[in-house]
Amino acid sequence: MSTPLATATTTPPGTDSTAPVRLAHLDAHAYRDWIASGQATVIIPAGAFEQHGPHLPLGTDAILSTAIAEAVAARIGAKVAEPLSYGYKSQQKSGGGNHLAGTISLDAAAVIATTRCLVTGFLAQGVRHIVILNGHYENYQFLYEGVDLALRDLGLGSDAERSVLLLSYWDFVSEQTLATVYPAGFPGWDIEHGGVLETSLMLHLNPGMVDMGRAVSHPPAILPRFDRLPVVAARTPATGCLSAPDGSDAQKGRLLFEQVVADLAADVAAELGADVRPAAAPAGRESVAHAAAGTPSGQFLPTP
Ligand SMILES: [Zn+2]
Repeated sequence: MSTPLATATTTPPGTDSTAPVRLAHLDAHAYRDWIASGQATVIIPAGAFEQHGPHLPLGTDAILSTAIAEAVAARIGAKVAEPLSYGYKSQQKSGGGNHLAGTISLDAAAVIATTRCLVTGFLAQGVRHIVILNGHYENYQFLYEGVDLALRDLGLGSDAERSVLLLSYWDFVSEQTLATVYPAGFPGWDIEHGGVLETSLMLHLNPGMVDMGRAVSHPPAILPRFDRLPVVAARTPATGCLSAPDGSDAQKGRLLFEQVVADLAADVAAELGADVRPAAAPAGRESVAHAAAGTPSGQFLPTP
């Protein structure tokens, strides 16, 4: 996708428009120069290796969080670290369950330890801000714990100039976008697993990885208000999706992607101020303006 880039006068050193947005594509000396700017911001996408029904790839969560991270990074002059491609255990009420083949998960201790190592490492080397961009529902509290322990390791308190932002990308979907994407009513983020959000985003970003001919229509899963362990496997729909991808299309995916990237970049830029490039209006903003108009950035729906 095309990404507009701001003028050099507001561009922190080492974040010029020709530099790679993926950290893994930098050489060590370019990385050191970038760190030396004192304004380096790293975005770490987090995902999972998890079944997403018969029509989406196992890596969907990391694929989507990485694509959003790259687009946000290009707008604000940040760089993207390699994604966390495995995540915390899929749970029956939000991901179908960890018992399903195609789902390979980490114990909480492993997610916490990995996050703690990455945050400690980047901040200790001079990165000023880290944004953890989560794309797998079950990860969130363990990412949070890893960040908290890393800051404790480094002795960084609330007066620190360095910071870590933690977010899940679906929290940036505006009410207007939801109304367009779910004309029959929004089922809730917890059962949006292999459903319209992820399927539409993948149809926009990676249509070759989606096989809509294998998508199955079925009612949303009805799950109890408690977790039962071991899980009763029959409570997960046979597709592995908690809601069907009925009505998914690339146009909805584009709307979701552009609106989320624009609002997420604007919020991060506002929070980190002079350490990042102000988030310019992204390309294609006009295509989502009808949906996003009147939704001030920062006004999000509550999540379940
Ligand atoms: Zn997913």
